Amino acid sequence: MAGTDKLRIIATEEAFATPAQLAAIKEVADRTTDYDADIFLWKRMAGGGPLTDRLLDLEGERIEIMDAAGIDMHLLALTSTGVQMFDRDTAITVATEGNDLLVEAIKRHPTRFAGLATVPPQAPDAAVKEIDRAVNGLGLNGVMINSHTDDEFLSEKKYWPILEAIEASGKPLYIHPRAPNKLMAPAFRQDNLEYAIWGYMAEVGLHGLRMITGGVFEQFPHLQVVLGHMGEGIPFYFYRIDYMHHMTGQWPETQRAKLSLTPSETFKRNFSITTSGVNWDPPLKFNLEVLGDERVMFAVDYPYQETHEAADWIRGANIPEDVRRKVASGNAERIFKINI
Ligand code: MN
Repeated sequence: MAGTDKLRIIATEEAFATPAQLAAIKEVADRTTDYDADIFLWKRMAGGGPLTDRLLDLEGERIEIMDAAGIDMHLLALTSTGVQMFDRDTAITVATEGNDLLVEAIKRHPTRFAGLATVPPQAPDAAVKEIDRAVNGLGLNGVMINSHTDDEFLSEKKYWPILEAIEASGKPLYIHPRAPNKLMAPAFRQDNLEYAIWGYMAEVGLHGLRMITGGVFEQFPHLQVVLGHMGEGIPFYFYRIDYMHHMTGQWPETQRAKLSLTPSETFKRNFSITTSGVNWDPPLKFNLEVLGDERVMFAVDYPYQETHEAADWIRGANIPEDVRRKVASGNAERIFKINI
């Protein structure tokens, strides 16, 4: 019978926006004169349109599209860049109100929605409080941070109280992309490479690797991190990362964190990945082989990519049925503590 039961599908990287977030983004965009890839994208969307409508909608067309494609649940999070481009007070307000709005939507549709909390990394003390309120208190399923904040990664120690609070919550940190930080950005500008084509992966892949090599997981060995887009390139590069990390560690002038595990061992202990935006068997099979079948989860990346295409792909992917069930929903239920 196993092959004939309906496949339960939880999509784990699904975006929404709030009016307050869009208003704050517009304000930042209006006063920014220097080129910034994230703001450029928002300026293109500022006039509204189908994508903006879909981000703002939680309970109308979104659920119709889920139903039509056989998606049981969206794990929702405020769309990139969250609140990370706002001043401290605006970021705290937009994050808190957005989390409240998300919790209310989940209460109205407990079988259709779960959600990740938004926090302001630029205000670590407030972020820690909001993790306690929204994740520990209101039951959200983890935290999403959209890669760099003010061009810094979470490997910087000033952000470690946030990581400590997430580890203590027992729920994961999802690191979602944004365009490359200013030290990398100019090299990606030609031909629009700063977006999902390559820049997002380069930014988040480096971010994840910097957390590993910077010793974050020596300090927080139980912290669980989720990366989208089939692991942002890191698993594909395991062999060379381990080899070169060992080799450069022998250089007498090298000063860096002492790791008790190799980078790939750390990744396999502390990271999971999602398929967001990559509806393709080869990287799915590769990740299942190197990470095991407990650490790969399905995602669509709604509304940025097509729901039916992703759902049809995971139903038909050439993997064993028991593994398909883990990828489609079983692993998400365990990792994000989704109990419905
Ligand atoms: Mn996304």
